[in-house]
Amino acid sequence: MRKGNGRMIDGQTRTCGVIGNPIKHTISPLIHNTLAGRFGHNLVYVPFAVEDGGLEAAIKGAYALDILGMNVTVPYKGEVIKYLTDADPLAARIGAVNTLVRAGGGYKGFNTDMSGLKRAMSSEGISMEGEEIILLGAGGAARAVAYLCAEQKARKVYILNRTIEKAQAVSAEINEAFGREVSLPLLLSDHAKLPDRRYLAIQATSVGLEPHDEEVVIEDEAFYKKVHTGYDLIYKPFNTRFMKLVRQAGGRAYNGLKMLIYQGIDAYELWNDVKISTDDADYVFDVVKREMGL
Ligand code: NAP
Repeated sequence: MRKGNGRMIDGQTRTCGVIGNPIKHTISPLIHNTLAGRFGHNLVYVPFAVEDGGLEAAIKGAYALDILGMNVTVPYKGEVIKYLTDADPLAARIGAVNTLVRAGGGYKGFNTDMSGLKRAMSSEGISMEGEEIILLGAGGAARAVAYLCAEQKARKVYILNRTIEKAQAVSAEINEAFGREVSLPLLLSDHAKLPDRRYLAIQATSVGLEPHDEEVVIEDEAFYKKVHTGYDLIYKPFNTRFMKLVRQAGGRAYNGLKMLIYQGIDAYELWNDVKISTDDADYVFDVVKREMGL
């Protein structure tokens, strides 16, 4: 029998996987089996659907079955923490884990969504340090990004959300966690109140996701004139309306596909003790882009 990367499965094949619910849409197997094939590792990566109430048994079972490493996705990134033996400080601080690494007696949790975003940005020459950042959204992804911004020493993070209470809650949490007034909440519709300067803007709402390609949370051209770099967490469509508006106003714009690839790469490195080069990352990027029809 052959595994996804074309090698034979044998007595020494290691298994990794992703747990979540639903899980059929995941592209993590594509990322990891492509990496295993590229490096010639005897490893197979598979999806595991875990039903509500089954998480503890799944984690214990995975450990008992000698599963090398796991990714964790919606809805278990928070809940999984109580079943781990240890957690990386940033993941513990955010309260969200997406990668499990075997350690003595159980798994240690990491958040490679955020290390992946940092690495994806850095591969494009983008740094958060000293930046004034506009963060669009205050949902699960935006909250983690807000932590990353503060941890990466952003000067200011303006959190703009349709529901102001959520932006206020995330802002208060970040300011408390980092002991400085780094974050300010704002209603999306109040974007004109942003001080007149140039920003790094991170789009972390779900608006603009395929098939709603032409939707965007802010249409106003004046807003985009304030953006020197726009980073959309969405990668489908490949060029979102947010990215188009940033570019039309003269800024640089990127989608979230590299973030997705690098969260996988960071996990793969943790499990396999390898360092994945930019060339290898670009190779995976091309394979995923082609397979997803992007
Ligand atoms: P979420 O928790 O459901 O949050 C959704 C956010 O979008 C909230 O801030 C929500 O505002 C806002 N929103 C939704 N509909 C809106 C509308 N019609 N007008 C204005 N705001 C609206 O979702 P999430 O998990 O944070 O994910 C957000 C996005 O990030 C998704 O598109 C996801 O695909 C993407 N993502 C990408 C990666 C990657 O690897 N590239 C990783 C994670 C997430 P309210 O609070 O007002 O409802």
